[in-house]
Amino acid sequence: MKKPLGSYRVMSNASEASANTTSGTAYSDTALITLDVDWAPDCAIDDTAAILISEGVKSTWFVTHMSPAIERLRSRPDLFELGIHPCFFSDSTHGATPEAVLRHCMELVPESISMRSHGLAWSSGILTAVLSQTPILIDISILLPRSSAAAPAYMQWLCRNLIRAPYTWEDGYEIEQPDTDWHPGLHTLYAPTIFNFHPIHIFLNSPTLSHYESAKRALTRFQSGTREELAPYVASGRGIQSTFKELVRRTRNRTRHCFARDLLDSVAPSPVGPGSPS
Ligand SMILES: [Zn+2]
Repeated sequence: MKKPLGSYRVMSNASEASANTTSGTAYSDTALITLDVDWAPDCAIDDTAAILISEGVKSTWFVTHMSPAIERLRSRPDLFELGIHPCFFSDSTHGATPEAVLRHCMELVPESISMRSHGLAWSSGILTAVLSQTPILIDISILLPRSSAAAPAYMQWLCRNLIRAPYTWEDGYEIEQPDTDWHPGLHTLYAPTIFNFHPIHIFLNSPTLSHYESAKRALTRFQSGTREELAPYVASGRGIQSTFKELVRRTRNRTRHCFARDLLDSVAPSPVGPGSPS
């Protein structure tokens, strides 16, 4: 049964998380794979989707723009959930103010109830705009790399609850780490482990950020780049594509997987706090 807005309660600490779920189990065996579209060319979106389809693994995509490849994702709601990826930077093509940015993004993905802010930009003004003018229930804009204690918490504001779920593994962060231990294992103990990838890094099999940046500089029309135009920049050996395939294959074989919206079901509903509607 669908819960009404404002009636969700998310575990706010580790011991509560392990004891207070609807199923009575912690979520340490669950993966949530997310993807920031970041204006990737359609061939990168299609190839990433094909990997997930071939293994039957769910994922949540944070969308920056509309394209035929995004429509193809939308046609597979059994495997792909769409959220928004608003850009609040001063040079944003989404809009000049948080309100305009969110209006544009919700027009792209009106069914969205989840988001990640591009560049992880956040402020009290953004929070207010999200809760006052969108149906967004879940934000995944906090990165806590490799944290074992990361767990969703909720913010009550403007008589609304917003789940803020930290993610703990990101491709563009890991490929710049000196220890090169990218292994994206399940490491959070009390919530789904949330991974984040970018379709362009998967397509290029990026081994470093500079590899991706040089490819981007070399192409005059990056977003509309074709498979043939991008092919010379696909790296061989260990990179983000091989890491992604390994994670997806392991998830198919051994791990539960979920959408961002399933975070709503990972907590027991309970009365909301003071100032919130009953
Ligand atoms: Zn982004």
